[in-house]
Amino acid sequence: MNVFERIIRREIPAKVVYEDDDCLAFEDIHPAAPVHVLVIPKKPIASVDAIEPEDEALVGRLFSAIRKVAAQLGLGNGYRVVTNCGPDAGQEVMHLHFHLLGGRTFSWPPG
Ligand code: 5GP
Repeated sequence: MNVFERIIRREIPAKVVYEDDDCLAFEDIHPAAPVHVLVIPKKPIASVDAIEPEDEALVGRLFSAIRKVAAQLGLGNGYRVVTNCGPDAGQEVMHLHFHLLGGRTFSWPPG
């Protein structure tokens, strides 16, 4: 079982900032910005590559969660949403997650 599944089960502590029936959002343990939250589905989906057609509504709800968390954390001036998929992108945890980053400006393109 990966670390995010253990966080969902409350076997590992995390600073949860939002939760609903389908989604959980918690602070990243190694923040890359003043606000760095991971928004994940409770359903175990490994990555973007593993999203099935039946998950499309769930993915929409994840983005609604992202929007709610961004508003809740005062990111009215903007924020970045990132998902890493697979080795070339540096995905470390094989459970779909969206990084919500804010509280500073970001350069483009990313590294
Ligand atoms: P990835 O590289 O897979 O897109 O990002 C995984 C993220 O999960 C990293 O930013 C890392 O800091 C975070 N992370 C890994 N283990 C834990 C943990 O146990 N707790 C929390 N809150 N974040 C974690």
